[in-house]
Amino acid sequence: MQNSIARRALALVLPPLALVPFSHAQSPAADLVITNAKVWTVDKSRPRAEAVAVLGDRIVAVGSNSEIATWRGPHTQVIHAEGKLLLPGFNDAHVHFLSGGIELDSVQLTDATSKEEFARRIGERARKTPKGEWIVGGDWDETKWKPQEIPSKDLIDSLTPDTPVFVSRYDGHMVLANSLALRLAGITAQTPDPPGGVIVRDAQGNPTGALKDAAMDMAAKAIPPLSHEQRVRAIERAMRHAVSLGVTSVQNMDPDYADIAVYSELLERGELKVRIYAAPLIADVDDQVKIGIGHAFGGPWLRMGAVKAFAGGSLGSRTAYFYDPYLDQPNTRGLLSDEMHPISLMRDRMMKADAAGLQICTHAIGDEAISTILDLYSEIVQAHGTADRRFRIEHAQHMAAKDFDRFAQLHVIASVEPYHAIDDGRFAEARIGHQRASRTYAFRTFLNHGVRLAFGTDWDVAPLDPIQTIYAAVTRATLDGKNPSGWFPEQKLTVEEAVEAYTMGSAYAEFQENEKGSIAPGKLADMVLLSQDIFRVAPESIRDSKVLKTFVGGKLVWESGAQNK
Ligand SMILES: [Zn+2]
Repeated sequence: MQNSIARRALALVLPPLALVPFSHAQSPAADLVITNAKVWTVDKSRPRAEAVAVLGDRIVAVGSNSEIATWRGPHTQVIHAEGKLLLPGFNDAHVHFLSGGIELDSVQLTDATSKEEFARRIGERARKTPKGEWIVGGDWDETKWKPQEIPSKDLIDSLTPDTPVFVSRYDGHMVLANSLALRLAGITAQTPDPPGGVIVRDAQGNPTGALKDAAMDMAAKAIPPLSHEQRVRAIERAMRHAVSLGVTSVQNMDPDYADIAVYSELLERGELKVRIYAAPLIADVDDQVKIGIGHAFGGPWLRMGAVKAFAGGSLGSRTAYFYDPYLDQPNTRGLLSDEMHPISLMRDRMMKADAAGLQICTHAIGDEAISTILDLYSEIVQAHGTADRRFRIEHAQHMAAKDFDRFAQLHVIASVEPYHAIDDGRFAEARIGHQRASRTYAFRTFLNHGVRLAFGTDWDVAPLDPIQTIYAAVTRATLDGKNPSGWFPEQKLTVEEAVEAYTMGSAYAEFQENEKGSIAPGKLADMVLLSQDIFRVAPESIRDSKVLKTFVGGKLVWESGAQNK
């Protein structure tokens, strides 16, 4: 920034022609020029261009190669894009950033093809793990081993004498704990199985280390809370992962305050790589109200001013709350979360948040959960009058037919994750039937009703990768390969619509549509260069696209094949 201010000053003092032969008599030279790109701007006034000029952290000009050439000065960094596609940086409207970073940081066991390899990876990890820290995560899968057998602690005890180990099976219903972890958790041969759980034992009745369901919680309680250092490490790793995928902004749902402290520290050190909008839990609404924070409070790198509410449920666990019962489990129609018991508790919190100018983002998946939240939103408008409040419903998966219009009238943003559609699409109809499934992940119907979409992933629940998300929205080809022409294909989006939802749509959802979301003069220079033109390739090939370069605030923060810090 200082650099550009200095240069601006210089440009005022010297006749521009003395500097370089450019024609912008009043303009300084750009710090960065990207030329020979296929620029898709997401700016309706100029959808396509060839080149972009950046000064400091902002875009200053977008145009043809020759128009932008006039911004080149002797110190301008020029990147020749070789005809590749340049898009605005992706803005993920719904992530769990710390959990994502922790997952990236944890030992990877899913593809270990033998118990020896499983043990070797844990041993290697233990050597690198600071004393006292636990080894967790892993997602092992013994069905890939020959013979298939549940691992026991004997496999890893000698490799992990000083490191507690608590590694999960991929389905989340079993863990393997080593002897140290069992000792710290106080689990012995005398410990009875807890209700709803099993401590797996050998012939002598001694725990083997395998713990099922409720027995996992007995050991999990012994895991100490994350240290500040662990959080910093996880978030740094999450940021590196994000920029490697072209994600330049994330909207962090229900972060711990300790995570926000890490963001703030990284901001202070100039080490934030992606822009953050943080939405802490609505249960703690009083904290932001007390400080007087309103929506989108902060600066370009770090903002707060939203709250995340939870109406409850997921389709996978049959807890999403519907008007009608689940088809394959007719004794239930899901549950509202405890935040919704009674509903007046949620109403009071929402009213308080809205009165303070905080933005409300509510997780709602089943049709009745969504409808109930729309009722509450509507009561807020009645009580407090119209305002630009940009209510959001996170996931907004299974809509009642009657609610699309209401969604639009209340100007609620549908903050959706297309990857969940191609994942849940494998089993959704068995759970809720064809009729209801036809209003599921109904992105086209939302657009037809004038509802704004914001795209995200829900990482670490789904991959953070925008390319996979766009592929999902455009093809709706379920992960099981059973719907190659699309599951409810009438709900497919075009690539243009998907890119817009991921950039301008997400920017709007965080009140930042004037700052980012398109490649236009004045906006933050957050951009991504892709290996192929996703507007031109066959839809099924979209997912083969690679990110070549990622720019945040005009800086090249990630480059394919380079040593990225
Ligand atoms: Zn989530």
